[in-house]
Amino acid sequence: MQPLLEIIGLEVNFYTHAGVVHAVRGSSFAVQPGETVALVGESGSGKGVTALAVMRLVPRPGRIDGGRIRFDGRDLTASSDPEMRRVRGAEIGMIFQDPMSSLNPTMTVGRQIAEMVEKHRGLSRKEAMDRAAEMLALVGIPNPRTRLGQYPHEFSGGMRQRVMIAMALACEPKLLIADEPTTSLDVTIQAQILDLMASLQSRLGMAILLITHDLGIVARLADRVVVMYAGQVVEQAPVDDLFHVTRHPYSRALLRAIPNPQAEGRRDLEAIPGSPPDLYREPEGCAFAPRCAFAMEVCARFAPPEVEVGAHHVSRCWLLDLRAGQWGRRFLEAN
Ligand code: SF4
Repeated sequence: MQPLLEIIGLEVNFYTHAGVVHAVRGSSFAVQPGETVALVGESGSGKGVTALAVMRLVPRPGRIDGGRIRFDGRDLTASSDPEMRRVRGAEIGMIFQDPMSSLNPTMTVGRQIAEMVEKHRGLSRKEAMDRAAEMLALVGIPNPRTRLGQYPHEFSGGMRQRVMIAMALACEPKLLIADEPTTSLDVTIQAQILDLMASLQSRLGMAILLITHDLGIVARLADRVVVMYAGQVVEQAPVDDLFHVTRHPYSRALLRAIPNPQAEGRRDLEAIPGSPPDLYREPEGCAFAPRCAFAMEVCARFAPPEVEVGAHHVSRCWLLDLRAGQWGRRFLEAN
């Protein structure tokens, strides 16, 4: 099957007064039609910047310096600005952690949704308002006709997030990018929003690229997981493999550092020792080496290869390369 979204060797740098921040360094992964892919990693891993790059919304002083972003047969890195404005909203929807930053506080929610469909679908004003009411009903907002005329501040946090989802899906995009979509909400509302996303996905058949640090959300929604560290993809696997046959030492540390919904019984969380690397300097070998309990001499000197370790499961680590010999075998036997 042709992937809906294919990111190949993406490079994003930020040109600051203090030097160049290498935020994304040669990342590659794909999202199939209808699939949910979770992008996980600590803050500063490059997951949020990758999502912005797909929308071609990397803020200054950042820029895409290399690689390709293929979406539905087109190269978005080569698309014109007007073409990208059409793609955003019509073909790729996006929801953020804080809906207030994306909703216009001076415009009614009905007008905001209607404008989107008028612009991208060519509907009349009345048809667009009908569509807006239909979308509010679809995301479970009671009395949608009345609420069309209200402003964002008249909605609760959970309801505002539903409005964002209604707006993002109004044009039935093929891909929804959800950046920490429920972080600011309480647990009950979080569960409702996640259920809503899952049911809308099966109803509309769209793919989701989910950016999160919450493994509970990953377990609940994702088909596949892409783990990023210091701007690079270090492991990608089907969701069950990632939880049960984790191959990369960083992914293992990440699973131990945050509550894992698939772990049996209670266990203490273990902080990952050290801190993420300084992205001003590109590491010579493996960026995780200073924090890795399994680091070998080769790790600090040469970038690790990407190794296929299972069906659709790849990991970028010297331990998995036969050339690492004895150490690699011991790691695999112990895990
Ligand atoms: Fe650890 Fe070496 Fe693997 Fe990097 S390549 S994760 S340092 S073992």
